[in-house]
Amino acid sequence: MFDDQSIDALTELQMPESLVPHKHSADPFACPCCANVFSETLRLTNTDLSEHAKGLPPGPRSIGTPMLVTNAHIITMDASHPNADTMLVVDGKILWVGMQADVPEEHNDLKRLDLKGKVVVPGFVEPHMHLPPLAMLHSFSNIGPNRFDTTAQALEQLKKDAAATPHGEWVVGRQFDPSLQQGPDYLTRQMLDEVSTDHPVFVYNASLHLGYCNSVAIDLAGLDENTPDPQGAELGRDADGKPNGVLKAGPAMALVVRHNTKLKEQNLAEACLSVFNSANEVGITTLCDQGTGMFQGPKELDLYQSLHDSGRMTARFRYCVSQAAAKRWDEIGLTWGEGDEWVRRTGWKIVSDGSNQGRTGLQREAFVGSDAKGMAYIEKDELDEAVEKRLREGWAVCVHANGDAAIDRVLDAFSKAKAKGLDPAAQRCRIEHCSILHDDQIEKMAELGLSPSFLIGHVHYWGKAFVEDIFGPEKAAKLDRTGACEDLGIRWTIHSDDPVTEMNPLRCMENAVTRTMWRSDQLLSPEERVPAAAALRAVTIDAAWQCHSDHEVGSLKAGKFADFLVLDKDPLAVAPEQLGSIQVLETWISGEQVFART
Ligand SMILES: [Zn+2]
Ligand SMILES: [Zn+2]
Repeated sequence: MFDDQSIDALTELQMPESLVPHKHSADPFACPCCANVFSETLRLTNTDLSEHAKGLPPGPRSIGTPMLVTNAHIITMDASHPNADTMLVVDGKILWVGMQADVPEEHNDLKRLDLKGKVVVPGFVEPHMHLPPLAMLHSFSNIGPNRFDTTAQALEQLKKDAAATPHGEWVVGRQFDPSLQQGPDYLTRQMLDEVSTDHPVFVYNASLHLGYCNSVAIDLAGLDENTPDPQGAELGRDADGKPNGVLKAGPAMALVVRHNTKLKEQNLAEACLSVFNSANEVGITTLCDQGTGMFQGPKELDLYQSLHDSGRMTARFRYCVSQAAAKRWDEIGLTWGEGDEWVRRTGWKIVSDGSNQGRTGLQREAFVGSDAKGMAYIEKDELDEAVEKRLREGWAVCVHANGDAAIDRVLDAFSKAKAKGLDPAAQRCRIEHCSILHDDQIEKMAELGLSPSFLIGHVHYWGKAFVEDIFGPEKAAKLDRTGACEDLGIRWTIHSDDPVTEMNPLRCMENAVTRTMWRSDQLLSPEERVPAAAALRAVTIDAAWQCHSDHEVGSLKAGKFADFLVLDKDPLAVAPEQLGSIQVLETWISGEQVFART
């Protein structure tokens, strides 16, 4: 175990001042979780979220009629009554849950939803995603590795999109990932001209650090061999100096993105509602944004308010406000916990380093094949101060930390706050991603009562890259240690960080239960595998707990909202490698059906 002084010495040794930027990332775009990939886009397209918020017509919020859900295989996630076959739903809440023979007599003649033995679980809770950027990307076609193994297939999809798009309008794609999709390392103007010469075509790389466009888009943006590279960025070029369609880093993408009418025309409040609909399809009934205010500060709160007031939300929404906008929050006197069961402020989010796959996560040791140890996104004394101040103000503090040295710093900040009489455990403080964990750190987390949320897709999608290129096998084995946390009785959850990986709690469960790696027949540290029951807790009751919502959702128990799913298979009984292909047949929120698979 480290003491405070040795951690200080360690971090000073590993972080020369020059590596520590004064605010956030030096690149104003960077990743959605770490910096402002879209604030610049919003500015360039003159998008004002407050204006968008005003454009949301209301709809009636209905609460389902009273009913008896019968003949179901109900997994309640309520430890005191784990199984049931009947659930009584009145006024959007669960009035009673138990066995059919015991249904209270006065309710016996209610309308019945006979599920014919199908499996019912609580609605899933996604504890870490990013709503405004997802809303912005919602009209972009997903051509990523989750959908297409090869670049050729991805381009084929864009061709279909172009055929379905009126002449001259933008065709836009996202999630293209040459590190996971077979084919060339980048998309050139020539490749995207094959998609269309009638439409401007633009594609985001999954990292959002790179973009690609076709000739129509290049001409629209007025780029040619005489266009200089914008500061801090680069235009890919052919041998003759003409832009080849590859846009490296934010400022280069901005030259093209600013002309994208698709971004200007869509109403982002409507797009948020569409994100909720997509979340319902994978069984999510509550989700939590982990970076509110990074894009347009308090205007994002206007957006949330309009979602709330519209009565059209099909998922409950929680959000953590970003430290990046601290000054603005302090000016308007924001406090923890405000809101109701539909929209509620549940945390204060601090980003302490970059990402491991981007080699910007802050490390104790250098990355494989380099001297670099990643980046701190906040200075150490600033982190200590922010953690203490926000704890003192009553916030649940969530700190993003990917590298092991970043986690050292976070643990140190909470230790210092605890020594001053503050209680991170009581406020359910979290470490976001918490990717590389050593035994001493897990013990320290248990001692401080800190709860991790793991971006479990790291194991499956990037596991092989972590083992072979980024960390080497020994350190990569310390990734997303769900098993070790489970053994120590630490409450942990799993998340998508969408748009980093796609929201899908059953896929996340499969990743945690199997720890398979994409394009590999190896498992990543199989000792960290967890039973399906633990993974199911992580996407229901424990995620609800982390989001300060376990009093109302997360398990099927009298008094809670009737947020539940009907599944085609039992996640506790299928083979682990089939978890991700379980189908969500129906999604219900407040006793009202919001999704049914047809
Ligand atoms: Zn993050
Ligand atoms: Zn994030």
